[in-house]
Amino acid sequence: MQQVHNQTITLQDVWKAKSTISAIIHKTPLIYSKALSEKAGAEIYLKYEHIHDSGAFKMRGAVNAIYQLTEEQKKHGVTTFSTGNHGFAVALAAKKLGIRAVICVSKHVPQAKFEKIKGLGAELEIYGDGQDDAEQRCYELQKEQGLTLIPPFDHPSVISGQGTIALEILEDLPSVHSVIGGLSGGGLLSGVGLVMKNTNPSIQVFGVSMEKGAAMYESLKAGKPVVVSEHETLADSLLGGIGDENKYTFSMVNQYVDQSVLVNEETIKKGMAYLYKEHKIVVEGAAAVGIGAIIDNIISLKENTKNVVIISGNNVDLTSHLNAIKAYI
Ligand SMILES: *Cc1c(COP(=O)(O)O)cnc(C)c1O
Repeated sequence: MQQVHNQTITLQDVWKAKSTISAIIHKTPLIYSKALSEKAGAEIYLKYEHIHDSGAFKMRGAVNAIYQLTEEQKKHGVTTFSTGNHGFAVALAAKKLGIRAVICVSKHVPQAKFEKIKGLGAELEIYGDGQDDAEQRCYELQKEQGLTLIPPFDHPSVISGQGTIALEILEDLPSVHSVIGGLSGGGLLSGVGLVMKNTNPSIQVFGVSMEKGAAMYESLKAGKPVVVSEHETLADSLLGGIGDENKYTFSMVNQYVDQSVLVNEETIKKGMAYLYKEHKIVVEGAAAVGIGAIIDNIISLKENTKNVVIISGNNVDLTSHLNAIKAYI
C-alpha cells in the first residue's frame, strides 16, 4: 500500500537547507567534460560531489538533519545505519557540532570505511549481514540510550540537503536538459528530482544502479518496496534496501525519475577508468555508474543537449581502484 506523506517536502525546504548548510558545505564545481561530450555527441558536465570533506555528497543531508535537532537531542547524540558514506557524513557532521555519534554498519562494509569512521571519533557498532540488521540495531540504541536516528535517505531534512546539489547545478547551468545520478535509497534523486521537476518538468532525471541488488529499481518495477539480496559489487555505496515502510523516497523517485537503468561490473570499471584517464580523478564505483552508462550507451542522450552527471563519492581504497581500472587504462 502506498504510504501517505505525513509531510510534503517543498522547493522552499531545499532553499532553507542551502542556507542552513552553507556554513559547513562549500559549493562544488561543475566541470565540462570535453572528452565525454565528444564521445556522446551531447554536452556533458560533471558535478564534483566527491570532493566534500567526507568524500561524498551525503555531507549535505547529514549536516542539514543534524542542524535541525533540539538542544536536548544534541545532548544525547545521534546514530545511523549506513553502507559507509552516510555514516561517515554523520560522524563528521556530529564532530563539527561537538556531539556524540554511534554508527551502525553491517560486517560487509569495507574495512577502510570502518577506519575512516573511527578516525572521526565516532563510535562504531558492527552488526549483522546487511543494512537491515544494522538498521534494527539503531532502533535499539534509540530506545536504550535516547540517541536520535539520522536515516541515510528516507528523511525530509536529508532529502532537502541532497537537493541543494540541484540548486547549484541550475545556478551554473540554467539551461540543463538532464541530470544523471546513482540510485540506491533514493535520497539523492528525490532531492535533485524535486528541484529539477519544480523548475522545469521537461528536465530529465536518470537513475543508475548496479545489476545485482538494485532495491529501488526492483521496487519501482514491483510497484512497492521489495527486499533484494546483497552481492559483492564495486558500487558498494549503492547497496541496501529502501525499507518496507518507506515514506518519501519511493514515491518521490517514482514521481521524479524519468528512467532507471542498471549497469554491470564491467561498465562500472569503464566509468572509473574513464574518469581517471580523462579527468585524473579517483572515484568509487557508485560514483562511476552514470559515466559507464553513457560510455556503454545504456543511457542515450539527445544530440546537442546539456547533461550533468553527479560524481557522487571517492571512498575507495587505492588497491581496489587500481584493480578495477587496470583492464581499461
Ligand atoms: C549514497 C550514495 C549514492 C546513492 O544515494 P541514495 O540517496 O542512497 O540514492 C550514490 N553514490 C554514492 C557515492 C553514495 O554514497
